[in-house]
Amino acid sequence: MLEVENLVAAYGKVRVLHGLSLKVEKGTCVALIGSNGAGKTTTLRAISGMIQPESGRISLGGENIAGLPSHRITTRGLAHSPEGRRVFPTLSVADNLLLGAYPRLTGKRPKGDMQADYDRMYDLFPRLSERRNQLAGTLSGGEQQMLAMARALMLRPEVLLLDEPSMGLAPKLVEEVFHTVARLKQASITMLLVEQFAAAALEVADYGYVLENGKLATSGPAAVLRNDPAVKAAYLGGA
Ligand code: ATP
Repeated sequence: MLEVENLVAAYGKVRVLHGLSLKVEKGTCVALIGSNGAGKTTTLRAISGMIQPESGRISLGGENIAGLPSHRITTRGLAHSPEGRRVFPTLSVADNLLLGAYPRLTGKRPKGDMQADYDRMYDLFPRLSERRNQLAGTLSGGEQQMLAMARALMLRPEVLLLDEPSMGLAPKLVEEVFHTVARLKQASITMLLVEQFAAAALEVADYGYVLENGKLATSGPAAVLRNDPAVKAAYLGGA
């Protein structure tokens, strides 16, 4: 479904990704883990067109999307829930969701049943349901994070990129976020998940990639990585 080959990306002259390759099969959840600054967020940004890769191939459903502007990548069915609660603060929760579905409203994506999807989002995120008319900027950090995820899902994406959905959340909410990711997986949503909570990410994911300094350190089925002594020692809080 999504395949990245030899991706090279930089900020100015500083190269951050040095030829990264990874694959996300349809209906699976793939975790991208690694220490701070390894290049995880940059990988998602390059895939969704927020930054232009220097080189490499990114194929979505068989078509090369590398270098396309982000709105064209969105209309091909890739949704990006970015790090750091990027919601439209002066719009209501409901209007934020509506904007997530914008390509469906303009005929650039299949329309489908909008009402059913609203209902699904409110079922998946009951806190948003209670606050559908509230301005997004007045939501708590955790609620904004949920809204960013729900808005991305309103595209009905072929592939969902999730960047640190647990960032800055209290432990109880972190648990809720992972529970939600597990539900998305049950619903066969194809996902590439970047997470600082590597153990929890590998618990929910099918497959994992470990990034170190912009290169792949190792990869494998999540169950194998969870038991890999080197991965455990470096990323999962010891043996
Ligand atoms: P974290 O877990 O800390 O979020 P990450 O693996 O997601 O880390 P990135 O955010 O991709 O890492 O950053 C990779 C490198 O690129 C870091 O050294 C970072 O300082 C640098 N970097 C990120 N964004 C920019 C930017 N806009 N301009 C310049 N350098 C950047």
